[in-house]
Amino acid sequence: MDPIENQHTQAHTVKKNKKKKKPTASGEISQQCRDLLSAFPVELQNTRAKGRHAIASESLEPGTTVCREQATSYIVRSPYIDKQCHVCLNSLDHGDISHSFTCDACNRVYYCSEECRDHDRAMHDSMCSVINRLDGIASECSVDVDLLRLMLGLLARRAQDPQDGQTSTPTPFEYVLELVHNREKISSDFIQVITQACEYILWFTPDYIIRIQYLLWEKNSFTATMLNDILPEDMKMDVNELALQESLLISSSQSINSNAHGLGDVQSRNTDSALGLFPLGAMFFNHSCEPNCNFVGLRDGKLEFRTLKKVIKGDELCVSYIDLFAPRNERRGNLLYTKQFWCKCRRCSTPMEKSVDRFLNGVICRQCHKDVYVIPPAHIDGKTSVKDDESAATYSCAQCHHAAPHSLVAGTIERADNQYNQAIGMIRQRKYGRAKDIFNTLIKAQDNSKTGNFTLHNFNAILMNSCVPLMNCYVFEDNHMAAIHVNRQILSKLRDSGAVPENSPEIGDFLINLGELCLNVAKESHGKALVEERWKQEAETALKECVKLREIAFGPAHGKTIAAQELLQSCQ
Ligand SMILES: [Zn+2]
Ligand SMILES: [Zn+2]
Ligand SMILES: [Zn+2]
Ligand SMILES: [Zn+2]
Repeated sequence: MDPIENQHTQAHTVKKNKKKKKPTASGEISQQCRDLLSAFPVELQNTRAKGRHAIASESLEPGTTVCREQATSYIVRSPYIDKQCHVCLNSLDHGDISHSFTCDACNRVYYCSEECRDHDRAMHDSMCSVINRLDGIASECSVDVDLLRLMLGLLARRAQDPQDGQTSTPTPFEYVLELVHNREKISSDFIQVITQACEYILWFTPDYIIRIQYLLWEKNSFTATMLNDILPEDMKMDVNELALQESLLISSSQSINSNAHGLGDVQSRNTDSALGLFPLGAMFFNHSCEPNCNFVGLRDGKLEFRTLKKVIKGDELCVSYIDLFAPRNERRGNLLYTKQFWCKCRRCSTPMEKSVDRFLNGVICRQCHKDVYVIPPAHIDGKTSVKDDESAATYSCAQCHHAAPHSLVAGTIERADNQYNQAIGMIRQRKYGRAKDIFNTLIKAQDNSKTGNFTLHNFNAILMNSCVPLMNCYVFEDNHMAAIHVNRQILSKLRDSGAVPENSPEIGDFLINLGELCLNVAKESHGKALVEERWKQEAETALKECVKLREIAFGPAHGKTIAAQELLQSCQ
């Protein structure tokens, strides 16, 4: 029997009388799902071709909220554990934990206020006794401790979910299990270590009777049943329930691995200091390499989905989980590895010679200098084995069809890639000056295609990936003018290539960065009023654009929008 089906059957047997409605893996969409999203202009669909997805129920302007979901469970990641409130994710007074509230029993949770502590009391009480053991379990089983903390949180959430089929926020635990449809693609090693970790977690469950019985049950299931026969009524345990809990823990670990979202500290720029599971969003907002929506972490562990551009009624609403300024093979490989699917979105299905993707690993045509040699995309063999197409002896230009030998085109990319890796190696050794020189050589070599050498296209991802650390090298040595020059190049690549959607948060990050750099140069202008004015103007233009973009991508009240607004005010 399919292990997933098996879990669902078990869940159904045990909780048969408790839940009236549960989401189903295929076919119709439950009323509960529809209720949870009824406030938003979306229609939920489930078709044979696309599976579950959401479409716009009316035409939408950029910056429209299409889903807001409270995480089933979320945690503050270990490095930030005493730096952020575990409920509202606010910073705890710059790490001064004497001003924060903690649980005296475990000292593993921190809150900004009594209010937040009280809010979390019921949930925390049910896991307090186990939480201290997780470090030990994690190192014993070689599992990430944050994964275990989130799994434990999910189990606690399950106990808190309403049992009468009522709609609840946070999203009910049942939905987390709905996300597990890739069990056969998860490595057996992972299943093995997680199973062991789960057994430990249940072993430290608060009720010692359950512990003893669990051990007996594990050794010999008859013993637990026999023990149950002689135990007084109030000490009897449900062996099925314990087995169920273990299988739920294992399933949730897989869900987390492929569906958890980073959440940020509300005040800072760090968008990855907390981790939450948002099954509703993951269920209905599919990935596309040309997304029309963005997801953004909010206060109190909420995740919001917003449109980035105009959406026509009936269009599917999609988000992206990956770097979109990456060649097709790289994006697909990344998604296959992290999300266990081979992307067949519109961008990935467009013939290479017509897609923006040809530029991202493109080498400029030596005859027409206008387009690039088309490198055929890799294909997938079976379920996981990715194969490069190496049959072609030559690659031909998308426009004039000039043919170039495979070895020369591939060699050009390989050389650039080696230089890039060499420079990154220098940065790791903190040799910024050397790194800067290598990046500059790499980038400048691409300017003179007239010399007859093969050169990379301006949108080639290797060049983009070189520009970002190069700019940081300049910032590091306070060379603001050079940093501005590179920042402008990055912005024009992002905007002109069509590889990222309009109003993409990434563009906003380089706009605010440009604004900051220009303000720095304005300050350094030593009383030359005209010069100062000129730089302030460029800062103002960049920051205005950034505010506008972030109002769309994050919403007007979001911390990142406000940060851009404050900077804009400072230069007016
Ligand atoms: Zn708080
Ligand atoms: Zn505690
Ligand atoms: Zn794609
Ligand atoms: Zn050509």
